[in-house]
Amino acid sequence: MLVVMHKCATPEQLESVLSIILSLGLKAHPLPGSTRTAIGITGNLLSIQPDQIGALPGVMEIIKVTKPYKLASREFHEADTLVTVGESRIGAGNFSVTAGPCSVENEVLMMKTADFIRSLGLTLMRAGAFKPRTSPYAFQGMGREGLKLLERVRQKTGVLIVTEVMETEEVEAVADSADIVQIGTRNMQNYPLLRKVGKIRKPILLKRGMASTLEEWLMAAEYILAGGNSEVILCERGVRTFNDHSRNTLDLSVIPPLKALCHLPVVIDPSHATGKRAYVPPMTLAGLACGAHGAVIEIHPDPDKALSDGLQTIDFPSFEKLMDKLREMAKPLGVVIS
Ligand code: PEP
Ligand code: MN
Repeated sequence: MLVVMHKCATPEQLESVLSIILSLGLKAHPLPGSTRTAIGITGNLLSIQPDQIGALPGVMEIIKVTKPYKLASREFHEADTLVTVGESRIGAGNFSVTAGPCSVENEVLMMKTADFIRSLGLTLMRAGAFKPRTSPYAFQGMGREGLKLLERVRQKTGVLIVTEVMETEEVEAVADSADIVQIGTRNMQNYPLLRKVGKIRKPILLKRGMASTLEEWLMAAEYILAGGNSEVILCERGVRTFNDHSRNTLDLSVIPPLKALCHLPVVIDPSHATGKRAYVPPMTLAGLACGAHGAVIEIHPDPDKALSDGLQTIDFPSFEKLMDKLREMAKPLGVVIS
C-alpha cells in the first residue's frame, strides 16, 4: 500500500502517519519525491483498513499496490534507481561494463587485468574468490585468500571489486572486501542469504535463477530491499531452455517488461548466458540495444588457460574491440558508458 501525502503536508503530519503505521505492526518506507512525499507500507496489510490511514491529516490518497513485490515495483518507486559505485553509474540512461576472469587465479593475472580495465577508462572488475562449481572436483576458488588479493589489486590500481558470496557465514568477509557483492544464479532463492545481504550496505548484483520467472526474480530482490538494502542490481545471465547451441538462453525479452515493472537497474551477463566466446560481443551489443543498463563480461589475457569458464571468456583485444563498438553504438542512443 502506498500513502501519498499532500504537497503541503507538514513534517509533523508525516511523522504522525509514520508512527501510526509502526504502531499497527507494519513497516513504513518514506519515499520523498520532488513535490510530495509518499510512504510505502509493507507487512500484513490484512490487519488494517485503508480508510484508517486515508483519513489522517496530511494524507492525500491511498494507492493499493497490486504486485506481490512492493519495494521493487514501479508502483512504489516511479523513477529509475541509479546505483553509483566509484565512477561507474548503473541504471537510468547509463551502461556500465564490468569485466574480469571467472575466478581469482593469482596476483599477476589480477593486476594485469585491472591495469587493462583501467586503461580502457573502466572501473569495475569482477572475479570470483568463492566459486559455485557443478563438479566438486573442479577448482573451487581461492576463498578468503582471494578476497585479500582483490583488496591489494584495488589498492594498487583503483579498480573496484565485484565478487560472489555463496554462504551466509561469509557475507561479512565478502562485503568488507567487495564494492559490489554478487549472488549467483544457484543462490537466487537462498532466502537466508538474501536476508543477510539485505542487512549490508554494499550494492548487490542479483543474478536471475536459471529457471526463474520474472516474478520470482523480483521477489528475490524484494527480500534484499525489505532488509533495508536499497541498492540491488538485477543480472540476466541466461535461463535453461531446450536449445543445444549455447550454454543457456540470454533472455533479452525480459528486459523491457522488467523495466516497465521495476525501477532497479538491470544488466546482462552474455558470458554465462552463451557459454561461447564468439557470441559474447554480439549479445552485449544486443543488450545495449534493448535497454539493459550494463554488462558483466568474462575476460582473460589467455582464455584457453583460464582455470574456469575459458570457453566463454574473451581475450583483451576482443574486449577492447567490443568496447569501441559499444561506445559507437551508445552515442546515438544517448546512453553513457562507464
Ligand atoms: C559467475 O559469475 O562466475 C557465475 C558462477 O555465474 P552464475 O551464477 O550466473 O552461473
Ligand atoms: Mn564464470
